[in-house]
Amino acid sequence: MTYPWLLAVENEFADRLSGGRLAHALLLAGPAGTGKADLAGRFQAGALCLEGGYPPCGTCRSCKLLKSGAHPDGHLLTFEQHPKKDELRTELVIAQIRHLTGALQLTSTISRRKAAVIHPAEAMTRAAANALLKTLEEPPGDAVLILVSHQPSRLPATIRSRCQALDVRLPSRDEARDWLTSEAGVAPGEADLAVEAAAGSPLTAARMLEQGRSAAYRTVSTALDDLRAGRRAPAGALADMADTDPEVLWTWLSLRSAAETRRCLAEPRLARAYARLQMEADRNRNLLPTSVRKNLLLQDWLIQWARLEG
Ligand SMILES: [Zn+2]
Repeated sequence: MTYPWLLAVENEFADRLSGGRLAHALLLAGPAGTGKADLAGRFQAGALCLEGGYPPCGTCRSCKLLKSGAHPDGHLLTFEQHPKKDELRTELVIAQIRHLTGALQLTSTISRRKAAVIHPAEAMTRAAANALLKTLEEPPGDAVLILVSHQPSRLPATIRSRCQALDVRLPSRDEARDWLTSEAGVAPGEADLAVEAAAGSPLTAARMLEQGRSAAYRTVSTALDDLRAGRRAPAGALADMADTDPEVLWTWLSLRSAAETRRCLAEPRLARAYARLQMEADRNRNLLPTSVRKNLLLQDWLIQWARLEG
């Protein structure tokens, strides 16, 4: 199954594959929550499929092996288990890239080519990126590398310049709402709210609706409106928001401030003030793991919000 907002980029990939114009390295870039990781998997399957077309057939030996994770010509490089901690690493390290480039030197065994997905590519350490660069400079003849990134600007320019770009874009708010109402079967108003809370990402919005978070977003949003209109005191608004996960809450406060900044562009003083509140919300979210004064920071932020247009 594909998402309507990915059709254009899928058609582009299909054209390049069938026209023999597929580069050795692709950079699949776009905002988080658009389905890029799944898409990279489909591109990989398409590059390896024995039927040789796109979309991949799903039934040949190659497609089946890839699905089971046992395809000798298909590789996925992503976060692996940390050797000393009981958690995943947060970087892609040079040993992984060396292992991958070693595998890419071997002749393909089942498919016509070898295909690797690197996700998320911006998590490569500098050393890992340098090691990958060497492979990109002299790619093994039948290898395709698919780099996936939602922050391509964090990749070295030398890597970006050696990749064929495939850009995924967020659908418009209307498209996202239409998709949600037909897929998740929710009312348009509810869908609008979820898309707003998810900063435009339809997949994040769908997840929020599933987890019942859009009701929480409505509570937070209403508390902000009431606070600004003087119908609610900061302490009351603080209580309304008490049940929301702090990281999610600061993200929403940041998004809401960004929306207010856009609304107030004709009033530069106000727009600047909202932009400053957005920066504070982002900073407070980043401070969360260390902060012991969480409620104080929130209260202070809410007081500033109430005063802006009060
Ligand atoms: Zn196939």
